[in-house]
Amino acid sequence: MNNRIVVVGSINADLNVLVDRHPAPGETLLGSGGHITAGGKGANQAVAAALQGADVAFVGAVGKDPYAAPALEFLRSSGVDLTAVSEVDDTTGLAVITVAKDGENNIVVIPGANSLVNCDYVSSQSALLAEAGILLLQGEIPADGFKEAIHHTMRRVVVNLAPVIEVETSALLEADPIIANEHEAGLILDQFGAGIDSMDPHELAQALLDAGFASVVLTLGSAGALVADATGITDIATPTVQAVDTTGAGDAFAGAFCARLIKGDSLIDAATHAARVGAYSVQTAGAQASYPDTSVSLPSV
Ligand code: ADP
Repeated sequence: MNNRIVVVGSINADLNVLVDRHPAPGETLLGSGGHITAGGKGANQAVAAALQGADVAFVGAVGKDPYAAPALEFLRSSGVDLTAVSEVDDTTGLAVITVAKDGENNIVVIPGANSLVNCDYVSSQSALLAEAGILLLQGEIPADGFKEAIHHTMRRVVVNLAPVIEVETSALLEADPIIANEHEAGLILDQFGAGIDSMDPHELAQALLDAGFASVVLTLGSAGALVADATGITDIATPTVQAVDTTGAGDAFAGAFCARLIKGDSLIDAATHAARVGAYSVQTAGAQASYPDTSVSLPSV
């Protein structure tokens, strides 16, 4: 079954609260909203990949609480295999997102069940991992679970190290490609003691190749993306769209990218498609709710 993507990652319920302004310390304010949406970078990327037609299995955990159902909604409806998602005695990962009128966000993340996606748990899923055609990882699980997942994978590892956590560099170098935005690329280079002053995307990508990555994909928001490997650096254009909400665009990109890669696309073709999926997703509010399936006609460059 090496045509399967296995995501080892986070599942969150995002609790969205709207306020006129953020409260000062000790202050109580009235807000509005309070709606719960499905989130977590692992879940976002799994949903994006499944909607793009990939066979996706998830290794993760949720709590035995009322947040689990909304957190799993799109994973279920998009057909992601959840047999390796366990229910544990902890809270479901929870992100409390306070959005003020000026658009400034305050976010408190409670990892909860996601912190149990550790070495022991991941190792108990070794059979599933051994079958993966692509292992897709992010930075929202414990570093020892991250490393263990790579250890059990026979084939391709794709890493979107968001947020940038400290992982053994030898494990991180298994990523082919490492997917990052410019900010994350800078932090990853710092981990290798190879930090550079420049924020130029080509220079960042070259520095990551020099650090030992076989391939690199940088996502650059409305400027598109780039793909870099030993054959060179290629700029990937993204369609021009009216951006309403860029939340989860990077996750849409990573999931769609893997969905194409596992079907045999080149890095460049997969990134070209992923950029169109990312651009589509920013046109409507939310993360998973804004991801297209294969029936949708995507914006063109
Ligand atoms: P992240 O959220 O990880 O920083 P990006 O913002 O780079 O990720 O978005 C991922 C991809 O989504 C980009 O490479 C691009 O193709 C697409 N994208 C994001 N924002 C826009 C935008 N405003 N217009 C067009 N495409 C966009």
